[in-house]
Amino acid sequence: MSEKQQKLFDADPTPWDLDDEAEQFVATVVLPEAPHGPFDYLVPGELLGAAKPGRRVRVPLGKGNRTVEAYCVAVRNESATANRQRTYRLKPIRAVIDERTLASASMLALTEWMAEYYLCPWGQVLEAVIPAGVRGRAGTREVVLLDVPTNVIAKLTQLKLPPKQAEALRQLAGSTTPLSIPELRKRCGCTAAPIHGLIRKGLVNKRTVRQHQVSHDVSPLKSAPPPELNADQQRALDAIVGVLRDQANDTLLVHGVTGSGKTEVYMRAIDEVISFGKQAIVLVPEISLTPQTVARFRARFDRIAVLHSHLSPPQRHWHWRSIAAGEIQVVVGARSAIFAPTPNLGLIVIDEEHDASFKQDSAPRYHARQVARKRAELENVPVVLGSATPSLESWHEASRGGFRLLTLAHRVLDRPLPHVAAIDLRTEFQNRGSRGAISRPLQTAMKQALQEQGQVILLLNRRGFSTSIQCNACGHVVRCQDCDIALTHHRAGERAVCHYCDYEILAPTTCPECNFEGIRYAGLGTQRLEAEVRSRFANYECLRMDSDTMQKHGSHEAAFARFRAGEVQILVGTQMIAKGLDFPNVTLVGVINADTALHFPDFRAAERTFQLVTQVAGRTGRGDRGGHVLVQTFSPEHPAIVAAMQHDYDRFADGELPVRKEHGYPPFCQMARFIMRGESETTTEHFGEHVGERLREEAERREANVRILGPAPAPLAKLRGRFRFHLLIAGDQPVTLREIMGTVIGELKAPDDVQWIVDVDPLDML
Ligand code: ADP
Ligand code: ZN
Repeated sequence: MSEKQQKLFDADPTPWDLDDEAEQFVATVVLPEAPHGPFDYLVPGELLGAAKPGRRVRVPLGKGNRTVEAYCVAVRNESATANRQRTYRLKPIRAVIDERTLASASMLALTEWMAEYYLCPWGQVLEAVIPAGVRGRAGTREVVLLDVPTNVIAKLTQLKLPPKQAEALRQLAGSTTPLSIPELRKRCGCTAAPIHGLIRKGLVNKRTVRQHQVSHDVSPLKSAPPPELNADQQRALDAIVGVLRDQANDTLLVHGVTGSGKTEVYMRAIDEVISFGKQAIVLVPEISLTPQTVARFRARFDRIAVLHSHLSPPQRHWHWRSIAAGEIQVVVGARSAIFAPTPNLGLIVIDEEHDASFKQDSAPRYHARQVARKRAELENVPVVLGSATPSLESWHEASRGGFRLLTLAHRVLDRPLPHVAAIDLRTEFQNRGSRGAISRPLQTAMKQALQEQGQVILLLNRRGFSTSIQCNACGHVVRCQDCDIALTHHRAGERAVCHYCDYEILAPTTCPECNFEGIRYAGLGTQRLEAEVRSRFANYECLRMDSDTMQKHGSHEAAFARFRAGEVQILVGTQMIAKGLDFPNVTLVGVINADTALHFPDFRAAERTFQLVTQVAGRTGRGDRGGHVLVQTFSPEHPAIVAAMQHDYDRFADGELPVRKEHGYPPFCQMARFIMRGESETTTEHFGEHVGERLREEAERREANVRILGPAPAPLAKLRGRFRFHLLIAGDQPVTLREIMGTVIGELKAPDDVQWIVDVDPLDML
């Protein structure tokens, strides 16, 4: 039998198989839900133009061929012969959902990279990165638009039509844009009947399109002329502009003390980007996305989009579309703004790059800084990172020459950095009988600052009234029934509340264990601090800002506005008030307890403490009046606190990096964390042990130099009724590390009641 005959013999009577040489198109799709794929499907001829990479499609899945939604990530031309070589037959795509592309080629490349890097299925990454409002085309409506085909226009005068139809046709032909039926009716004052008559006769074209219902009219604010840059700022700007002009994808780290004019430098660099007709993305921590920040950008750039977490789906969709259409020059937003679909990106800026809010705490557990660097690489643009307290990861990278370091060592206008002094709580405690949050030196300083019409900020990084409730007789600590956490006493409603779940009880007056009546409410929260401030400074207005008082959207803005206007003299709050704010009249900052984060079971505890104290200290002395900072601490000689008091980042980094190196922590390795949780402690632990074993086996097989710690109970050993175990894996070869994890994850089968996650480059170690 000839080869040709053999083929005829084998041929399947399916339409696409009839012709060996026939071209056919195959789409690769990934699914947001398991099984995630990738899977190949045939693109039927009628969907050829519509089924494009970056759009969603409906495909039949599995034996039952149930229809599921999937993201098309690639389409390729394949000959029928290639298809024949498969051991299975490709099923055809059923439908194309999107009429527009949701993910551009570069966004597909970026999300594919994220899937690999963060060990998260590609379909799940896409689903997380493309806003739901965009997928659902929120806030749009289908409208029918009419226009007149050119062949009809040519014979317009020869047509014999009833007068109303003739008038409608004349109006439509004379319009520069297509019109909807109601618009056309309005123009010629007719009913819909003559228009439908024209449609029936084929004299007008009918198209269905989607139009947005929402629109925003944001007129730019009137602005003061920008300040003249000082020499340091100019040098930093020149470096950034140099990279912009070379169209290189370098990362530049602007290390500038608080108030050194970093934002001004970013804005000048963005001017340059816009002058090339390109767009810039500016990421800031969600908490810094205040009207003050936004107003500064609005005053400088005409077409900006602000992406914050409170946008409604239609608003988000509208912004997304304007950005994708190239109508926006500057996108300012929190973490997820890194996915803004700018068509011609020129620059990415990440302000306060050390901030933990750039890390997403659900899958994909990405860090916006990492994603930004990848996106910049794909689109060949620079990234500017800025901070007064850079993450040690970035600092280390800069010192190795991977990032370019630009330093702004001084505040603008030669304003001095505030003087910072420590108040040793150990001696304070011994020297005086009275207890309270505010030491005598701090109280004196507050009095003086207030008498001189200054404002005061007090930072305490714990909310609630008392942070623990313990029996003095039997030692029992009142804990959450579902979590391994002491309950916090909240004054409002006299409740004892778990800060990790919703569990709450009435605050007990006697010990629940032994009935002893001297139960002790200890530990200090912002509520108690507020009460103390109010009683000691009754003549001044005090405002508390923490997640209890700031639940309503807009309450931050309202609170800051009152403080700025001087209606409030004393601002008490958690880290919420430590960041990025610029209040020229704040002449005193008090840190109530610098040690709250110091003893956390987390290798970044010192770094966090240093950042927090430095950042909050930066809130004072920003005006002409100077300012100073008092730091209450039980460990005034701790290197992180000493360095923060001296505004000495280098000293902190020089002391901390060797410690990280010695213990093999980031930035000297890459780390990932597995967390297992389940209702049964033993099943969960056993599963953790299994994961650990498999990781060790794979590491050995590759003779890879990795460390695997655990499984061990997580510092938060129980949460919402589930036991938690964690496991750390670290190594200095990121690719090998990912291979090992990828292999193990690929075949992991958790028991039914155990869930697990993997967190690459974890920030949260609890
Ligand atoms: P950072 O971002 O480093 O905290 P900002 O850019 O917010 O600093 O600058 C702090 C304040 O100083 C802002 O009000 C800003 O307008 C102002 N400023 C910035 N650069 C200059 C300059 N060269 N001369 C005078 N004022 C400046
Ligand atoms: Zn709880």
